[in-house]
Amino acid sequence: MAEILVLVDHVDGDVKKVTLELLTLANRLGEASAVWVGGGYDGAKDKLAEYGAQKVYVGSDEELTSYVVAPKAALLAQLVQDKAPAAVLVGATAEGKEIAGRLAVKIGSGVLTDVVDVADGFVAEHSIFGGGVIAHAKVNTGTPVIAVRPNSVPAEAAPASPAEEQVSVALSDADKAAKIVEKVVEEKGERPDLTEAAIVVSGGRGVGKDGFSIIEGLADSLGAAVGASRAATDAGWYPHQFQVGQTGKTVSPQLYVAVGISGAIQHRAGMQTSKTIIAINKDPEAPIFELVDFGVVGDLFQVAPQLTEEIIKRK
Ligand SMILES: Cc1cc2nc3c(=O)[nH]c(=O)nc-3n(C[C@H](O)[C@H](O)[C@H](O)COP(=O)(O)OP(=O)(O)OC[C@H]3O[C@@H](n4cnc5c(N)ncnc54)[C@H](O)[C@@H]3O)c2cc1C
Repeated sequence: MAEILVLVDHVDGDVKKVTLELLTLANRLGEASAVWVGGGYDGAKDKLAEYGAQKVYVGSDEELTSYVVAPKAALLAQLVQDKAPAAVLVGATAEGKEIAGRLAVKIGSGVLTDVVDVADGFVAEHSIFGGGVIAHAKVNTGTPVIAVRPNSVPAEAAPASPAEEQVSVALSDADKAAKIVEKVVEEKGERPDLTEAAIVVSGGRGVGKDGFSIIEGLADSLGAAVGASRAATDAGWYPHQFQVGQTGKTVSPQLYVAVGISGAIQHRAGMQTSKTIIAINKDPEAPIFELVDFGVVGDLFQVAPQLTEEIIKRK
């Protein structure tokens, strides 16, 4: 079976969900080999094994994480040269896409980004125009480098006993051009990560400038992450990093609650694969209702607080 390299996305050993999705996808296409860069591997190896890594290349030299992005591309380029994998998969995050581009240049390959699925023969699927058009593309030159969007492919546990191989790469001056001088861990509240949460409660223009405390209250009663439409983030009512949609984050939780959101195609592009969708909107004609499993036609300022109260009561 052809070996497929999967670059592990992790923060100090905490493996991101997208990696588990990529391992699942890689095992569908061939044999998944995880590529670990940085510290914290010991705490993460069980997770990689649980999700089907057949092999793990461990690059734990401190130098690899002392510089911005380039060393990861350099290590992957060397692995492509040494192991001749059939493809390389990375998460289509901001960093993942930069690594994919750099890697493709280094190995003279084609690169595909924002991919939502990969079929036999490494035919990649892109969802474009807000999910209105599906495009297929294939790399014609070299080892395909494919950046897959988080939450596109469901992760499935497939326990394996991966062999481990320590790897390193000699970094060039160009790889060392941008050194990391300080790392500040972002203050994280109690809420789960937006792209990894099982439940997301999002607010839109209907929520207004001062209404996001209602969204946060509902989210907290459910142990959910908070999201927002672009109308809300552009207005400055909620930070941009929480925007869901075509130009924001893609989420695929078990439950998505859209509050005061009309359901524009660009918003749907980021949440339409959620398992169960609930909307609260005062306009019965709002397009979001075409998509929902449950809809409440009503004023969010009345419905959402009552819902929160009821959920807390039943806990
Ligand atoms: C290139 C491009 C990329 C884009 N990317 C994104 C993206 O990533 N994410 C995104 O979200 N948008 C994106 N947009 C914007 C998108 O087209 C919509 O403008 C946006 O999603 C609308 O946000 P909204 O639903 O919050 O606001 P609106 O469309 O104004 O809807 C507000 C809704 O709130 C309801 N409402 C109002 N008051 C109440 C109340 N008291 N109780 C209950 N309901 C109420 C209204 O009935 C209405 O349906 C993009 C647009 C473009 C052109």
